[in-house]
Amino acid sequence: MTEIRYRRILFFQAIFLIVLALITFILFKENSKPIQFLIVWIAAIILNLIYVKRYALPTRSLLRKIRSSAIDEDLSWAEIEESIIRKDVAFNKQKEAFELENLKYKRLLDSLEDPVCILNKNLLIIYVNQAFGALFDFADQKLPFPLIEITRNLEFQEFLKSSIGQERTSRRSYFTFNQLQDPHKTFFDLKVFPVDNLSNYLCLLHDVTERKMADQMREDFVSNFSHEVRTPLTILNGQMQNLKEALLKEDNFESRFAQYFVKIDNNTRRLINLFNDLLRLSSVESKKDIIKESVNIEEMLTYLTQDLLTNYPNKKILFDILLDQKVFFVDYHLFEQVLLNLIDNSLKYIEHNGVITIRSHHEDGWDHLVIKDNGVGIPEDQINRIFERFFRVDSSRSSEIEGTGLGLSIVKHIIQKHDGRIKVQSKLLEGTSFTLSFPCN
Ligand code: ADP
Repeated sequence: MTEIRYRRILFFQAIFLIVLALITFILFKENSKPIQFLIVWIAAIILNLIYVKRYALPTRSLLRKIRSSAIDEDLSWAEIEESIIRKDVAFNKQKEAFELENLKYKRLLDSLEDPVCILNKNLLIIYVNQAFGALFDFADQKLPFPLIEITRNLEFQEFLKSSIGQERTSRRSYFTFNQLQDPHKTFFDLKVFPVDNLSNYLCLLHDVTERKMADQMREDFVSNFSHEVRTPLTILNGQMQNLKEALLKEDNFESRFAQYFVKIDNNTRRLINLFNDLLRLSSVESKKDIIKESVNIEEMLTYLTQDLLTNYPNKKILFDILLDQKVFFVDYHLFEQVLLNLIDNSLKYIEHNGVITIRSHHEDGWDHLVIKDNGVGIPEDQINRIFERFFRVDSSRSSEIEGTGLGLSIVKHIIQKHDGRIKVQSKLLEGTSFTLSFPCN
């Protein structure tokens, strides 16, 4: 092939020389001036030099290389040509297969309803599927193009920047974009993971608007319902207290009536506690932003422990508090709710006398707080269920102790809002310890 090309080059050069000779002959016949000859010849020489440099020399050097390797392998020109043709055919076949494979992946990604794009390290988008193009309306634009031109959403850009360079998958729930083409798609779960050697990243958006709306509706329902029920219940409870007091003043108030009243009283209080906890839980769930501040937990623990102890006049409880880390960076009211629920549980589940040990320390960028009691403990097979809503360990034991089964769900949600962690260790009849860990900023 290359030899053919080289011969062709020599052929064109011969034609060129013939044309030049013809022009010279015509000029000579018409008695042209020597300057005209000179211009034609200089132009011819320049053109020829360009031609030789661009085509003849590279082709000749290529031919020499092929020839020298062919001499090594003792191949004739015909064999070299045949082998090049074979390789050419194989290359074209490979190219076709590659293009087909490419098309397959493209069709596959286009068939996804989820928007997908591939980004390189410089935040340039190098591939988008149809859903992504439709969502951001940029089908006409040419790839690659900068992410910044698709959306000005700073949060999105920051998240992608922080994901790039990471080997693991980064996730983020409930991402929102403003001004999208389809107003019904507002919330997305976002996943970013490396596709090859940390140089390109696949960014997958999953529309979760309906789920988010359903969650929102459920939260609103629980909150509104609890609110509505709590009001008449509180009034009912108040009126009953009045009635009880009035009847007790009367000499003929029989003790069995008093018992009925105690039962009604206990149960309305239980219901009120339940709706209060439901309201607390839904308010924590719906809270978008928490307000973190430096909170002195020593002061908080002092007044909380004193207040809570008054609810258990028949128990002898000792608080053993030693704090190496006194200031936590948390939302004041939410953190107070966490301590209240955990210490109240310890007080509730210590049967008569006991010790509640509270320790805190700072380690590796985290503030840790441990609340430990020597109460009844939790059976091993039920430990991982205690954070579930309405879950109460062992119904016979729980029915004696008042509770809603929501306290630890509230605690878990509050800790999650702080990007924190909670760990529980417990042994039946020996006690329980909760370790809370908060990242310190
Ligand atoms: P409750 O209102 O029933 O206390 P929680 O959600 O606070 O609900 O706790 C769930 C269950 O976990 C409780 O019913 C109890 O059985 C168990 N539990 C929680 N804290 C302790 C503790 N300190 N000691 C023993 N059991 C506990």
